[in-house]
Amino acid sequence: MATRKLCIKTYGCQMNVYDSARMADVLAPLGYSATDDPADADMVILNTCHIREKAAEKVFSELGRLRQIRAAREARGLGRTILGVAGCVAQAEGEEILTRAPFVDLVLGPQAYHRLPEMIARLSRAGTAQLDTDFPADPKFDHLPPAGERGPAAFLSIQEGCDKFCTFCVVPYTRGAEYSRPVADILAEARALAAGGTVEITLLGQNVNAYHGAGPAGATWGLGRLIRALAEIDGVERIRYTTSHPRDVDDDLIAAHAEVPALMPFLHLPVQSGSDRILKAMNRGHDADAYRRIVDRLKTARPDLALSSDFIVGFPGETAAEFQATLDLVDEIGFVQAYSFMYSPRPGTPAAGMAAQVPADEKARRLASLQERLRDQQIAFNRRCEGLEMDVLLDRTGKWPGQLVGRSPFMQPVHVQAPGTMLGTVRRVIVEQGQPNSLSGRLADADPAQAARVRA
Ligand code: SAM
Ligand code: SF4
Repeated sequence: MATRKLCIKTYGCQMNVYDSARMADVLAPLGYSATDDPADADMVILNTCHIREKAAEKVFSELGRLRQIRAAREARGLGRTILGVAGCVAQAEGEEILTRAPFVDLVLGPQAYHRLPEMIARLSRAGTAQLDTDFPADPKFDHLPPAGERGPAAFLSIQEGCDKFCTFCVVPYTRGAEYSRPVADILAEARALAAGGTVEITLLGQNVNAYHGAGPAGATWGLGRLIRALAEIDGVERIRYTTSHPRDVDDDLIAAHAEVPALMPFLHLPVQSGSDRILKAMNRGHDADAYRRIVDRLKTARPDLALSSDFIVGFPGETAAEFQATLDLVDEIGFVQAYSFMYSPRPGTPAAGMAAQVPADEKARRLASLQERLRDQQIAFNRRCEGLEMDVLLDRTGKWPGQLVGRSPFMQPVHVQAPGTMLGTVRRVIVEQGQPNSLSGRLADADPAQAARVRA
């Protein structure tokens, strides 16, 4: 079979990272293998994000650059590069992409990846651009080939879409209604990952804890039950899930945090704002107190649980006092990591048409002051880890000779001197230094006497 090169550039969330890997799985039987260099590629796919204006606009500047790369390849007699746009910009803008960038060959939404081979065949027959942004009744997962090997830490999509309709968000429009994969499919994919050497699985969904999949004997399983079953699989040592919604944190999920040691003590639980009026205007379906109560219950179940969150500043009508409520909530809860954004009006969402849009310079000021606080909290947490001994999954090689990088239970990158044979294993590490964005340490078993002292 002809060997061809495929370059997928991924923007946005982890769901897109997972989808990119699945597109590569679909294209592998056609002879495509991966490259990071678009100049080397017979096909380039941009897997795009539509969540904020900046993310969406990036696609068009990147397409301009790719058009030049394609022309240079053609001039060198390397044949025509297929250019594709996938993901949420493709879903939201569809035909508009072909109007703004008529040199694009393929436009496909997140529900159409399994039809890529068909689209490529039609493109080569007809020579005209192919567009597929349908939400098919049959879920794409039924048509995807088994996942390839993914390395020590892998994503596994269990749920897609969203029915919550937060007033700022495009996801319900680009990813469609909530859909949960059946339990048996998820367990089969997890077993295949474990057999291929994956140690840590991160379950993905736009609202992952809204998971309600068909289980054996007609039962419907929630996320807590699914996590317990995954923890039984040989080789699965660590489980995470993201992104969850406060409204869908149920008793069984909280109990799983207490009872399943493989479930890591780190949770990304977006709150968006600390102001009840803004949370209501956002249609989040919870207030700040409800968030506090959920965090309390989770921390009672798992006292070392570390939290991360998403915040939006400058939602329409947000006053200085309402922004202060967000800062106060941050001070009160304490986050070890966070993502924060200026509100970006998205066409077609209710908030985009709301009066009293906050001026851009005020949004920027609020974002800077929130990020300063969040950063201080992250640094303080990393410093508090100094001297602790923790399990680290060594999942990649570092910049320096003899260095491996891993992830702590709390998702911090950890740099350590270790032999390459330890790649893909969980090791005890004594943390020596907490930097702003990572930790560094040494293997505990390299110095058993010291390790025993720290543990004591
Ligand atoms: N489903 C998740 C939840 O409800 O928390 C979030 C998914 S969304 C892909 C990721 C984050 O992007 C959101 O939590 C929010 O903070 C941010 N976001 C979404 N729409 C936005 C907008 N219009 N402007 C700024 N940030 C936005
Ligand atoms: Fe968007 Fe809200 Fe759904 Fe999250 S819950 S994906 S923020 S609409």
